[in-house]
Amino acid sequence: MTTELNTERTTGPTAPSTRLAVADPARARAADIVLQGLRLPTGPATFDVHNPATGAVIASLPDTGPGEALDAVARADHAGREWAATTPRHRADVLRRWYDLLVEHADAIALLVTLEMGKPLAESRSEVTYGSDFVRWYAEEAVRPGGNVRDVPTGGATLLTRRAPVGLSVLITPWNFPLAMATRKIAPALAAGCPVVIKPAALTPLTTYYAVELAHQAGVPEDLVQVVCTTNASGFSDAVLPDARVRKVSFTGSTGVGKVLLRLAADNVLRSSMELGGNAPLIVFDDADLERAVDGAYAAKMRNGGQSCIAANRIFVQDGIADAFVEGLAEKMGAAVTGDGLADDVALGPLIDDRAVTSMQRLVDDAVIHGASVRTGGGALESKGHFFQATVLDHVPARAEIAGMEIFGPVAAIQRFTTQAEVVQRANATEFGLAGYVFTESLDRALNVADALETGLVGINQGVPSNAAAPFGGVKHSGLGREGSAEGLEEYQSIRFYNLARRPTA
Ligand code: NAD
Repeated sequence: MTTELNTERTTGPTAPSTRLAVADPARARAADIVLQGLRLPTGPATFDVHNPATGAVIASLPDTGPGEALDAVARADHAGREWAATTPRHRADVLRRWYDLLVEHADAIALLVTLEMGKPLAESRSEVTYGSDFVRWYAEEAVRPGGNVRDVPTGGATLLTRRAPVGLSVLITPWNFPLAMATRKIAPALAAGCPVVIKPAALTPLTTYYAVELAHQAGVPEDLVQVVCTTNASGFSDAVLPDARVRKVSFTGSTGVGKVLLRLAADNVLRSSMELGGNAPLIVFDDADLERAVDGAYAAKMRNGGQSCIAANRIFVQDGIADAFVEGLAEKMGAAVTGDGLADDVALGPLIDDRAVTSMQRLVDDAVIHGASVRTGGGALESKGHFFQATVLDHVPARAEIAGMEIFGPVAAIQRFTTQAEVVQRANATEFGLAGYVFTESLDRALNVADALETGLVGINQGVPSNAAAPFGGVKHSGLGREGSAEGLEEYQSIRFYNLARRPTA
């Protein structure tokens, strides 16, 4: 498939590829076999799931209504009683078997992720590794549920603190990491002893079904993890979150939806974890290693086609290194092979839908009107899929819309700065606070700037900071709570204490 390029957008020193790579036939056949083997629910009212690279319908699923969602709550609640009473070792063993099955099925899951979400197969494989790691991590954490012993300061009593499962957990996940966003929530919930109702995004529900089917094969009781798929997301939350059996909501998605869910959660006083939107600053100082900075910015921008909450959103480059950095990044992004994620060597897949392509074009056009220059890319690629070129914009003014909002696409928006104090002030001038990035060869500067950034995490001289062992999460409007690490287990536990009165004995 050769495509027509919107030639108005190709101005700039680095001419991007105008061809879209097509799926490797053997991989396409393998993906088809995975699809055919998938056990999916059936029902009368259905909606379609599309491949964003081709626009083709790849599956039809029942569109679950609020009443059926409440049935799922009832089933999970019932199964949860027995699960909460199992030993930590039992839960650990089941999670470990789930992890082993995810690894065994890694190729099939990666194909499915690419098929429904679009990312290049190599990135889907990385997501499977990353997503499975949460299951292994919480298999290991399940046997360390926490708790401690302390004495009352005035004497006469000893306090035992214990951790109990928080209870039925409603998990709502986005489309951008269909496996990892699910395992990052399900695994700690199960490790803590909680039943789960999970609602994946209607755009990418298939991976969740696959992963949960493997969980059941591993020994997770059939009713304990309920998958509810619907195109009526607000109908789901309006029905389920007020239910007295529900005790926790964990959401990953946009800040706007997170605020709606927090309001609903308030009425039922639900424990709430919110992994929300980002607007990550990536700062390159004059003393940075240029190659490391370009590679790091490329990874932080291009991973998942820029459709990541921690994607580099505002790239700030110090005056002395700016020209070389912009040239290096434009060259690397301009060379990115774009196309179907099942094609060979593809580096940039499709965006999730047409709205995303329209949004990229609007942001690029607006930036150019406000004075930015296009260094590579700049336009959509004509196709039945949803492709936008890897794009580098230089001299983006702060007043351009792209400088103030989450881009969620392969557009690098570069601004320049002069002093450390100035860039820290500009980086923090946002309501979001999820990720930040610093590139410098000075350890002092790296730590000082990282401390000054109002974010939950900072990548220092690297563009992919996430890890199952790390407490992932944001501050400000980027969210509440942490996922991954020991802290991620605490999100599914409530702390209680026993006060043991003690009298002196003779
Ligand atoms: P979204 O908020 O539109 O949807 C996320 C999920 O919420 C989907 O399952 C959707 O169906 C559901 N949803 C939407 N409205 C709902 C409602 N009223 N009640 C219940 N559920 C509802 O977000 P998206 O477009 O799927 O994902 C992109 C956003 O997610 C970006 O803002 C990104 O930054 C954020 N994100 C954050 C993290 C993080 O860890 N902080 C990770 C990935 C994505």
